[in-house]
Amino acid sequence: MDFKQFNLHPKVQAGVEAVGYQVPTPIQLQAIPAVIAGQDVLGLAQTGTGKTAAFGLPLLHRLADGVRGHVRALVLAPTRELAEQINESLNAMAQQTRLKSITVYGGVNINTQIKKLKEGADIVVACPGRLLDHISQGTVNLSKVEVLVLDEADQMFDMGFLPDVRKILRALPGKRQNLMFSATMPDDIRRLAHEILCRPVTVQVSRTAPAATVSHALYPVGQHLKTPLLFELLKHTDTESVLIFTKTKHRAKRVGEQLEKAGYKATSLQGNLSQNRRQAALDGFRDGTYQIMVATDIAARGIDVSLISHVINYDIPDTPEAYTHRIGRTGRAAKTGDAFTMVTGEDEAMVKSIERVLGAKIERRRVEGFDYTVPAPKKDAEFARAPREPQRRKPAAAAQGKPAEAKSAPAGGRAAQPGNSRGAGGNRQQTGQRQGGSRPAGPGAGEGQRAGAQRPGNHAARRSGR
Ligand code: AMP
Repeated sequence: MDFKQFNLHPKVQAGVEAVGYQVPTPIQLQAIPAVIAGQDVLGLAQTGTGKTAAFGLPLLHRLADGVRGHVRALVLAPTRELAEQINESLNAMAQQTRLKSITVYGGVNINTQIKKLKEGADIVVACPGRLLDHISQGTVNLSKVEVLVLDEADQMFDMGFLPDVRKILRALPGKRQNLMFSATMPDDIRRLAHEILCRPVTVQVSRTAPAATVSHALYPVGQHLKTPLLFELLKHTDTESVLIFTKTKHRAKRVGEQLEKAGYKATSLQGNLSQNRRQAALDGFRDGTYQIMVATDIAARGIDVSLISHVINYDIPDTPEAYTHRIGRTGRAAKTGDAFTMVTGEDEAMVKSIERVLGAKIERRRVEGFDYTVPAPKKDAEFARAPREPQRRKPAAAAQGKPAEAKSAPAGGRAAQPGNSRGAGGNRQQTGQRQGGSRPAGPGAGEGQRAGAQRPGNHAARRSGR
């Protein structure tokens, strides 16, 4: 079985060969013929299954012949990283076709995007908020869109983007092909699918269980021993690229720094970074400059490094779905990977939920020779911050309901210092943010560093964060 069976446009087939895909993945086998036939498709597939090519190849096939320079396909994605990743993948597969795909998302200069849109693009891969800005300024013309793709629709909902998505739908021609992909199918997404899709073909690749090529292990440990255990695990494991997850941005930064200090080629990716620094961290992780990346759930969305050999959960995620997403970073497209999760006594309930989704008990492991008996310090100082300065009221900002990130620490922000008013922002993020939950909230991971963006209903904050 190879890609020739789909009878793709020769220039698209040449793109498949250029990117080196030989055997279609299960989601590609199911989705490509349906999309080529012009049907609407609902794809239930987790990340790492090859879903980008599952919609991308037939999309390019459709666009390969026909007028150029009009936006004929629109792909909506919840995060900048995912948008970049899809765009890169589409352009790689389209290299022989002269079709052009560009990205549109917040947090970067809008004028550059306007220029690119003016120059003519066939495909726009966009995050919803910034695309709405372009729609309202009249800088994008979506009247010729033939195909709409909604990727990671469940995440789009979690981040509060559904109202924006509905507004965007109003700017599209009624007659179009719709493709929607989601790792999970909560009720709201099912409703959205009913609204958008017309007699869809449903294609499904394992509902929520992570890729079968990943092996899982739990490492029970006291909270205070997580960092020493992490060092021990890294020392004794043969790793290529390692992605480590923490539950807060502060912890991601701190663990990244500790690893760096210990001589590892490590970096961290969290919402407090500027877009340039995020991109530099991502590029460095992709090209091997960094072997280890420490990230929060939201910041890590869309990371596609095909050689991630290990995912290490420094902190267990808040939901089994978040576990699936994290683990989806390794074992991608039939490569093998390992998923290690450090667990404390408090994590037992979540472990049970994850095991239910996996349909199997996860092996508990102890690291030979590691001293598990070291007592916890009286006060856990590892992630402690300096005490918070009493807050003075700032009437103007408070009254205007300024978005939370307006006060947050600067890129790569420091821990709060007494007498440093920025510290309040840092503290708030540590306590007020729920990374990886079913309603993740945290600035920077979405399209325009909008802390409020990820809470459904928090529109004021979302708008002003643009
Ligand atoms: P995705 O789920 O679209 O993010 O894809 C996950 C990874 O699998 C990416 O690195 C793709 O380049 C890769 N991939 C997608 N389809 C194939 C295929 N048929 N053969 C090999 N690798 C693939």
